[in-house]
Amino acid sequence: MRSITTLDLQYAHRFYGFQGEAQYLHGHSGGLTIEVEDSIEIGVNMVFPCNEIQKTAWALLKNFDHALILRDDDPMLPAILGVYEKQGIKNGSPTNQMKGVAFKTELATAYPDCRLVVTKETMTVEGMIKIVYDLLKDKLNIAKITFTSGVNAASCEYNTNNIIDRCPLCGIALSESGVCKKCGYRK
Ligand SMILES: [Zn+2]
Ligand SMILES: [Zn+2]
Repeated sequence: MRSITTLDLQYAHRFYGFQGEAQYLHGHSGGLTIEVEDSIEIGVNMVFPCNEIQKTAWALLKNFDHALILRDDDPMLPAILGVYEKQGIKNGSPTNQMKGVAFKTELATAYPDCRLVVTKETMTVEGMIKIVYDLLKDKLNIAKITFTSGVNAASCEYNTNNIIDRCPLCGIALSESGVCKKCGYRK
């Protein structure tokens, strides 16, 4: 069975080199749906607590919210960083508080201090799904990701092989040593 959660992300981006209006900087409200698949953990009668899926995903994906997403070869990138630098906000500002955990993968690097994510590929809805799966695949048994942005939508299904041990009392993933970080249960 699956536990399903959704997240909203507001972001700005552009498709550098794309022959169409998306080559101009513009913004979106994106909707991300993450489906986690596993057996039902009998103790809690659920696959995985949806608020925990959300918490795990949001810790990293917060970086995309109210952020600018640009491809690493986009000439707008050094231009914008130059403006941020001159303004003294490139390395953070006291009003920039809703920051995600910085990350760097093959596909994307997050700079929470200046609310920027630099991607290797164009951040289409398909591109975003690849980035999200890569960030979360070891933390959640992801069976499907759907991302919608304006009239665009894409989804991808995955095989879930990594069985994650869950706490029979609260449902969250146990640590490698079999301990629940939330309620202290030991396997
Ligand atoms: Zn767009
Ligand atoms: Zn627990």
